Amino acid sequence: MDATSTTTSPAGTGAGDGGVRQRVPALRRGRWRDVAGAANLLDSTGAVAPTVFATMSALAARTGAINLGQGFPDTDGPASLLDDAAAAIRAGVNQYPPGRGVPELRRAIAEHQRRFYGLEPDPETEVLVTAGATEAIAAALLAFCGAGDEVVVLEPYYDAYAACIELAGATRRTVPLRFPGYELEPGALAAAIGPRTRMILLNSPHNPTGHVLSPAELAEVAEVATRHDLLVVTDEVYEHLLFDGRPHVPLATLPGMAGRTLTVSSAGKTFSVTGWKIGWVSGPADLVEAVTTVKQFLTYVNGAPFQPAVARALALPEQHFADVAGRLQAGRDQLTEGLLEAGFTVSRPGGTYFVVADAAPLGYDDGMALCLDLPRLAGVVAVPVRVFHDDQAAAASLVRFAVCKRPEVLAEAARRLRALRR
Ligand code: PMP
Ligand code: GLN
Repeated sequence: MDATSTTTSPAGTGAGDGGVRQRVPALRRGRWRDVAGAANLLDSTGAVAPTVFATMSALAARTGAINLGQGFPDTDGPASLLDDAAAAIRAGVNQYPPGRGVPELRRAIAEHQRRFYGLEPDPETEVLVTAGATEAIAAALLAFCGAGDEVVVLEPYYDAYAACIELAGATRRTVPLRFPGYELEPGALAAAIGPRTRMILLNSPHNPTGHVLSPAELAEVAEVATRHDLLVVTDEVYEHLLFDGRPHVPLATLPGMAGRTLTVSSAGKTFSVTGWKIGWVSGPADLVEAVTTVKQFLTYVNGAPFQPAVARALALPEQHFADVAGRLQAGRDQLTEGLLEAGFTVSRPGGTYFVVADAAPLGYDDGMALCLDLPRLAGVVAVPVRVFHDDQAAAASLVRFAVCKRPEVLAEAARRLRALRR
């Protein structure tokens, strides 16, 4: 197998459904309540819009380019995790698990929160297993937000946030993070809060920027949430993927926050199994109860044999978690060097799967056009950052590259990207 072959067309990572622009007449006629025509769900012609990740993975599959677009690793997670899941299937763990998740996994999530952060959620009432972090976020938005409510998110924002806020009938208000530092500007969060604000939907480490909120930034979030008596949902799926010795600090550990914070995470990134979709949410019992009420009618349950396997993986020694972060940090450094050599300006992420680079110094002002042409120009696929923005001009020439690939794949991508140098 050559260095790049497993990254181009992964079964089930969007390559198969990507690029589908299916016309649905009922949607165009606006029967799909008030979300019909919403920018994040339908395109300008009324067709169902595929996500940018599906589109770009399809482009990679079509062209054979190295796929640094959609964030998924090209190596498997720990062998013990894979073996445990296979053994569970063979042992007959194949029917519906309990609605809140198998007790073993809920206990393991609670113990993980205690071991790493000193939080002590009750596995019976304060932990819920979900179909990925995505379902936890969707269910929380549907549970707490509706027409007339505003949800405050950092901009750029993960695509599902915008879509799920719209599905809930609520409105997003955004707080800009600016390339290349991506720090929260003092006062910017407070300025986005109004009488209709229902929730802050936070994300740190942050996709797509890789920014890790500093203690001062987290303190500002906590201060604003407390002052305005707001609910916070914090998406911490990259909690173990931090670089340069940074610790992960869950927002729920800050004074005054435990009672108003729902913490969301997932096995996908931590254990390199993004297709398993085992996620979870923890927080105060009444808030978790509300999320459960919605969740039971979204998927009801999922992933029976994966749940006990993830439970055991959460108890792996700390070295495992450190090793994953170390490999990604090396990937960040390797790709950053390649992008700098190619002539990009590069932001230095503190964590996650991603690096954001500015193509303007290379003469490319339109990141979307560049990404669509990048397979031809350099045999690489990436994602334009402007799709995560309301203020698209702020990110016009910015491009996100995934670093969660094997060193030989990143080396080849870096070599190819040098073709862009002018
Ligand atoms: N939140 C963020 C910030 C993400 O990048 C992702 C991407 N996988 C998710 C949520 C979704 O996680 P899951 O696959 O567990 O639903
Ligand atoms: N979280 C992944 C990313 O940002 C994509 C997941 C998806 O395809 N929805 O690349």
